[in-house]
Amino acid sequence: MNHESRMLIDGKLVDSETGARFDNINPATEAVLGSTADGTRADMERAIAAARHAFDHTDWSRNGALRADGLRQLQAALEAEQEDIRSELVAEVGCPVLSTFGPQLDVPLKEALSWPADMIGEFAWKRALPDKDAFGMGVLAAREVWKEPVGVVGVVTPWNFPFEIILNKIGPILAMGNTMVLKPAPDTPWNATRIGRIIAEQTDIPPGVINIVASSDHLVGEVLSTSPLVDMVAFTGSTATGRRIMKAAADTVKPTFLELGGKSVYLVLDEDGDIAASVGGSAFISMHAGQGCAMPTRLLVPNSRYDEAVEIVKVAMEKNKYGDPTDPSVLQGPQVSKRQQERVLGYIAKGKAEGARLVTGGGIPRDQPRGFFVEPTIFADVDNRMTIAQEEIFGPVLSVIGFDGDDDAVRIANDSIYGLSGVVFAHDLERAKSVASRIRTGTLGINGGLWYGADAPFGGYKQSGIGRQCGIEGLEIFTQTKTVGWPAQ
Ligand code: NAD
Repeated sequence: MNHESRMLIDGKLVDSETGARFDNINPATEAVLGSTADGTRADMERAIAAARHAFDHTDWSRNGALRADGLRQLQAALEAEQEDIRSELVAEVGCPVLSTFGPQLDVPLKEALSWPADMIGEFAWKRALPDKDAFGMGVLAAREVWKEPVGVVGVVTPWNFPFEIILNKIGPILAMGNTMVLKPAPDTPWNATRIGRIIAEQTDIPPGVINIVASSDHLVGEVLSTSPLVDMVAFTGSTATGRRIMKAAADTVKPTFLELGGKSVYLVLDEDGDIAASVGGSAFISMHAGQGCAMPTRLLVPNSRYDEAVEIVKVAMEKNKYGDPTDPSVLQGPQVSKRQQERVLGYIAKGKAEGARLVTGGGIPRDQPRGFFVEPTIFADVDNRMTIAQEEIFGPVLSVIGFDGDDDAVRIANDSIYGLSGVVFAHDLERAKSVASRIRTGTLGINGGLWYGADAPFGGYKQSGIGRQCGIEGLEIFTQTKTVGWPAQ
């Protein structure tokens, strides 16, 4: 595998100032794949200075044609390496190769850069307001609202869908005329460092516009929150880290765009008729070992159909194939690290201790002697107040919760600090839509419909985040607003 171990700072591919490196581990085999430059605070500060310089002293922020060309060159060069990226993602993330044909690689590669590039020409950069004599002094003014880039954006990303998340940051941030410094998750650095190499060698994106600093030290990312040279932080990761970033950014009053955790519901409303297909689909949460922020990990079913629903989902879950993520028939690979595996097992132990009934799974699979695997797991008799129903597990663990009537279902769905996503099923579409409108989350799939796309805003209510990624909202978030007036002619 032709991986890139160096960082990108000011247009150059560089090692860490100390020369230190950290290991990249394959979570399915526990083998060391290779190493990556281990960036320090000093490296981060150099990267920030380069991004600041590129924003303040080049025409990047005003040259839309250069930005569109740069994004399209990047996309074409990534497409030329698509199969290498696929193998690399499966190796470092442990994601099933199946997922790379969809959200992990092919889908974002198709649109995450090209849609924002296309929007550079269509975005409402200026909006006219009606002429007005604002203070009633007989001076009529023409007025406009201008949208301008924010400046230098610090970007911190997680390991679960790393390429998808990074591309969906680069596209809108650069399209809107900003410069950026990216700090990828230490578990999965190579997809990011590869993007750095491609930018340096195969695009006209000027030096300093995008800088990529990998580090084994999470706190190197914190410099992005505290530095007065950074104008905004865009973060995807856990709610705990999001809180910390927000606090660190407060001293410089930096806007923070946060895409955080979730505890979404999979709600089947029907008391009558066939529920096999709708309930069965909830077993899909073991895809990528449950490591998706939008995974609906609380299955809500009417109490009148509870036992039947548990049986349906048990059969479906036990059919899901797990194991070697390079096998195209596998749905579930390993957790990303030993730490995550232990964390998930800890939640399973807590579920049992708090009185939930283990229906299937619950341990490390005996047939996987290597790798950080956890069996696809279902808990029944779950009360929504239990820890496994309240906290994000980030593993292949589904909790089945009963309800009585639509109001009760909505109450349970909203009884969460999170509000990221969810799924609603009902034979009657209008009933499903009505319930969907009462659930406080940023996205919802109704009767199997998928909402995802570069043009579709994605983000959270409540402690699932602030702001939206993708769509017009996801462009606007990387802009500042300037209102101007001049004497009307
Ligand atoms: P994490 O919060 O542990 O780490 C995310 C990133 O933050 C990593 O790059 C890490 O190095 C960095 N980091 C850690 N501490 C930091 C600090 N103090 N300052 C700056 N950076 C710091 O999350 P994770 O375990 O990598 O990812 C899983 C989490 O991400 C889950 O909670 C999941 O729900 C969430 N997530 C959310 C979305 C979304 O769009 N809402 C998408 C994917 C993942």
